[in-house]
Amino acid sequence: NIPIEVTTDNVDTVAEQHYPLCMLHLHNYLRRNHHLKYDCKMQLGIFLKWVGMPYEDMLVFWKEEFTQVMTEEKYEKEYVYLFKHQYGKVGSKLQYKPYTCERIQSFTPAVNQEHGCPFKHWDQSSLSAKLEEELGGDYEQLQDIEDLVREKHYVGACNKYLCYKNPAASSSEPIASPNEYVQKSMLSDLY
Ligand code: SF4
Repeated sequence: NIPIEVTTDNVDTVAEQHYPLCMLHLHNYLRRNHHLKYDCKMQLGIFLKWVGMPYEDMLVFWKEEFTQVMTEEKYEKEYVYLFKHQYGKVGSKLQYKPYTCERIQSFTPAVNQEHGCPFKHWDQSSLSAKLEEELGGDYEQLQDIEDLVREKHYVGACNKYLCYKNPAASSSEPIASPNEYVQKSMLSDLY
């Protein structure tokens, strides 16, 4: 249960404050480029469903971006179906489960693909730059996280990142999915 409703109005703020790096990266990439490839749309779209973005807001969210780089007609014909499908509204009405960190880390994104887990899939300099941007330049914090990445403890590194970004989350159980990350980050802000 996510304590704050994620809507088209607050999604940028929620993303910046409460998304894990895997989803923040996709969100920001979409805002910059107005387009995502299939695997990215799946990773972000199913996440949006499980963080509770209402169906109507979800439709507006994707449409506003994609129609900046294509006609509304093309979007309605070729793209919107997938987003409705992710919410279980069309076709087989499949109820997708939220992706776990383990699943996201099992992907093998090619160099020009944006999905996956930054702690596992990004090169060291890109990850360091992003960590510094998000956390500021606290050398010890960055080292702590990068040590865990070097030891291949990617979820541990993400948990550490959450605790540094939002210190009130330190006492909570470790996360195992992006949705759990958001929940813990939001809850720790409230209490
Ligand atoms: Fe996302 Fe999980 Fe990787 Fe964190 S560890 S960035 S939540 S996939």
